[in-house]
This record gives sequence, C-alpha cells and structure tokens, in this order.
Amino acid sequence: MSKHYRAHKERARGYVKERVETLSAVYGFQYGRIAIRNTKRSWGSCSELGNLNFNYKIVFLPDSLAEYIIVHELCHLREFNHSTRFWKHVESIIPDWKERRRALKRLERLPARVLYCSKEN
Ligand SMILES: [Zn+2]
Repeated sequence: MSKHYRAHKERARGYVKERVETLSAVYGFQYGRIAIRNTKRSWGSCSELGNLNFNYKIVFLPDSLAEYIIVHELCHLREFNHSTRFWKHVESIIPDWKERRRALKRLERLPARVLYCSKEN
C-alpha cells in the first residue's frame, strides 16, 4: 500500500460517502457498498451488484469533476452501459457533463505531481 494512498484514503472515503449519500437521497439511487481503491486507470466503477468503487485521488479533484465521476457511477446503477439512455440520465443531473468530462481528460494529461501535490508524497 503506498504511503500517499494510506495518508488520504480515509479522507477520500468520507468525501465520497457524503456525496453518494446526498445524491442518492435527492435522486433515489440504491447502492451497495462503497470502496476506495488505489486504481491505476479508473476514477470509478460500478458492479452489477450495485457496489461502487472510487479512486482515492478523487479527493484531489475540483468538486465539480468529482461530482461528475460520482454521478456517472450512480447512473450505472440504473443503466449498466454507456447507451444514449445512460448519458441522458447523467445529463438530467449534470447538464454540463460534457464540459466536465473534457476538463477531467485535460487534467489526466498533467503530471501526477501537479494533480496530487502533497507533503506526504
Ligand atoms: Zn461508465
């Protein structure tokens, strides 16, 4: 387990839990477990059992981008695919999801030290 992951995992869990709970209360999502992981490539995923996984580095993102990631995974609880219906669902919650997705892609191209700058690193 990396030092950086260990140092920020619980803060990430608290942040994600709070956002998932609030969004689920407002939009009526039913989810299973929430796990925080140190994944290489993905920001989040959703299993067919309704369990949600998030990359701990989500806590270093601007709130608007973290929210897009969380809403994206929550919408998979209803549409387990990337169909037009799925994106319509995302759009009903985040009308500017396309801009946020683009911003996230731009951010991913930055060096890690810019993104996750921290003293513990
Ligand atoms: Zn997806």
